[in-house]
Amino acid sequence: MKIIMVGAPGAGKGTQAKRIAEKYGIPHVSTGDIFRKNLKEGTELGLKAKVYMDQGALVPDEITIGMLMDRIHQADCRDGYVLDGFPRNIPQAEALTKALAAGNESIDAVIDVNVPDENIMDRMSGRRTCRKCGEGFHTRFNPPAVQGICNVCGGELYMRDDDLPETVKKRLVVYHDQTQPLIDYYSKQQILKSVDGTQQMDKVFADIVDVLENLG
Ligand code: ADP
Ligand code: ADP
Ligand code: ZN
Repeated sequence: MKIIMVGAPGAGKGTQAKRIAEKYGIPHVSTGDIFRKNLKEGTELGLKAKVYMDQGALVPDEITIGMLMDRIHQADCRDGYVLDGFPRNIPQAEALTKALAAGNESIDAVIDVNVPDENIMDRMSGRRTCRKCGEGFHTRFNPPAVQGICNVCGGELYMRDDDLPETVKKRLVVYHDQTQPLIDYYSKQQILKSVDGTQQMDKVFADIVDVLENLG
């Protein structure tokens, strides 16, 4: 199964993508996570991406598309994957559609995790991420057992540089300008499925599973 998650920054794409990946035994492919991993390792790609990420802007397609294509052509992606954070604009979506069509493949479902802008600031100010394994938490909505410590691996939790309010505002503008048009793009292909992302995490997941179990 090949799935795409779309939604505003902080809508819960990563949270839900991890659960989908676990339930269906497919890899969770997050372009943001790949950029952050590269940055941590100090690669050239990571340093290049950081300039854009810190501004709340999109990393250029010349960097992003090739990186994503390399990832989905690895062996573990053969039976499917859940994409989180890609595509983020129409040229990326078209590049993906084209690459899949060349191998007679296509996306099965695009899950739109719908959360209005009003809720996003709260989501982002409380988001905490594990430095070691990347697991996501929220100070209020999904707190770790011990404050500041990852439940999964014991790593240190931090607040992402790009989750500061000023950057989040910019990312929301970029989302509406460049990413939201994908909703229309995938509606026309009749693979778009919207879920109410303001609900409690378990309920959002139940709705997504319901969608995936009932694909025409
Ligand atoms: P969020 O989880 O808040 O949606 P991500 O972790 O997906 O954020 O992305 C963080 C940043 O990484 C983005 O603001 C952008 O700078 C960069 N990025 C991630 N995916 C892409 C992409 N597909 N195209 C361009 N830039 C991207
Ligand atoms: P995205 O990948 O779309 O940027 P995340 O999955 O990282 O979003 O979620 C953003 C923040 O909101 C995290 O701190 C996460 O724990 C929290 N969160 C995710 N889903 C929900 C939900 N349904 N209700 C409340 N908080 C949530
Ligand atoms: Zn961890």
